[in-house]
Amino acid sequence: TYTIAEPCVDVLDKACIEECPVDCIYEGNRMLYIHPDECVDCGACEPVCPVEAIFYEDDVPDEWVEYTAANADFFDEI
Ligand code: SF4
Repeated sequence: TYTIAEPCVDVLDKACIEECPVDCIYEGNRMLYIHPDECVDCGACEPVCPVEAIFYEDDVPDEWVEYTAANADFFDEI
Protein backbone atom coordinates (compact mmCIF):
# COMPACT_ATOMS: atom_id res chain seq x y z
CA THR A 1 0.00 0.00 0.00
CA TYR A 2 0.98 3.61 -0.33
CA THR A 3 1.22 5.90 2.69
CA ILE A 4 0.81 9.63 3.17
CA ALA A 5 3.39 11.19 5.50
CA GLU A 6 4.10 14.40 7.36
CA PRO A 7 4.40 16.82 4.40
CA CYS A 8 0.61 16.54 3.93
CA VAL A 9 -0.15 17.88 7.42
CA ASP A 10 -2.09 21.16 7.12
CA VAL A 11 -1.61 21.10 3.33
CA LEU A 12 -4.31 18.70 2.10
CA ASP A 13 -3.78 19.65 -1.53
CA LYS A 14 -6.06 16.80 -2.68
CA ALA A 15 -4.50 16.45 -6.14
CA CYS A 16 -4.04 12.78 -5.19
CA ILE A 17 -7.76 12.32 -4.59
CA GLU A 18 -8.43 13.32 -8.20
CA GLU A 19 -5.88 10.77 -9.47
CA CYS A 20 -6.81 7.73 -7.40
CA PRO A 21 -8.76 5.27 -9.60
CA VAL A 22 -10.32 3.49 -6.64
CA ASP A 23 -11.13 6.54 -4.48
CA CYS A 24 -9.26 5.20 -1.47
CA ILE A 25 -7.81 8.52 -0.27
CA TYR A 26 -9.82 10.09 2.53
CA GLU A 27 -9.76 13.44 4.26
CA GLY A 28 -8.88 13.71 7.96
CA ASN A 29 -8.71 16.84 10.09
CA ARG A 30 -5.13 17.77 9.27
CA MET A 31 -4.07 15.44 6.46
CA LEU A 32 -5.26 12.91 3.94
CA TYR A 33 -5.09 9.17 4.48
CA ILE A 34 -4.86 6.17 2.15
CA HIS A 35 -7.01 3.17 3.06
CA PRO A 36 -4.48 0.32 3.18
CA ASP A 37 -6.99 -2.36 2.18
CA GLU A 38 -8.42 -0.39 -0.73
CA CYS A 39 -5.19 0.91 -2.29
CA VAL A 40 -4.27 -1.10 -5.40
CA ASP A 41 -0.64 0.12 -5.47
CA CYS A 42 -1.06 1.80 -8.84
CA GLY A 43 1.25 4.68 -7.85
CA ALA A 44 -0.83 7.32 -9.64
CA CYS A 45 -1.08 9.53 -6.57
CA GLU A 46 2.63 9.74 -5.81
CA PRO A 47 3.86 12.05 -8.62
CA VAL A 48 0.95 14.50 -8.38
CA CYS A 49 1.51 15.39 -4.73
CA PRO A 50 2.97 18.93 -4.72
CA VAL A 51 4.71 18.36 -1.37
CA GLU A 52 5.92 14.79 -2.07
CA ALA A 53 4.05 13.37 0.91
CA ILE A 54 3.19 10.02 -0.68
CA PHE A 55 5.44 6.97 -0.57
CA TYR A 56 5.20 3.28 -1.35
CA GLU A 57 5.22 1.49 2.00
CA ASP A 58 8.78 0.20 1.61
CA ASP A 59 10.04 3.65 0.63
CA VAL A 60 8.68 5.73 3.52
CA PRO A 61 11.64 7.68 4.98
CA ASP A 62 12.73 6.48 8.42
CA GLU A 63 11.59 9.63 10.19
CA TRP A 64 8.05 9.12 8.91
CA VAL A 65 7.59 5.34 9.24
CA GLU A 66 4.96 5.86 11.94
CA TYR A 67 2.70 7.38 9.32
CA THR A 68 2.16 3.94 7.79
CA ALA A 69 0.49 2.78 11.01
CA ALA A 70 -1.24 6.16 11.37
CA ASN A 71 -2.87 5.72 7.96
CA ALA A 72 -4.22 2.32 9.00
CA ASP A 73 -5.25 3.52 12.47
CA PHE A 74 -7.29 6.34 10.97
CA PHE A 75 -9.62 3.78 9.41
CA ASP A 76 -9.88 1.73 12.61
CA GLU A 77 -11.21 4.81 14.37
CA ILE A 78 -13.97 5.72 11.93
FE1 SF4 B 1 -4.99 5.33 -4.98
FE2 SF4 B 1 -3.18 4.23 -6.61
FE3 SF4 B 1 -2.41 6.04 -4.77
FE4 SF4 B 1 -3.20 3.60 -3.99
S1 SF4 B 1 -1.37 4.08 -5.22
S2 SF4 B 1 -3.82 5.57 -3.09
S3 SF4 B 1 -4.80 3.15 -5.50
S4 SF4 B 1 -3.75 6.41 -6.55
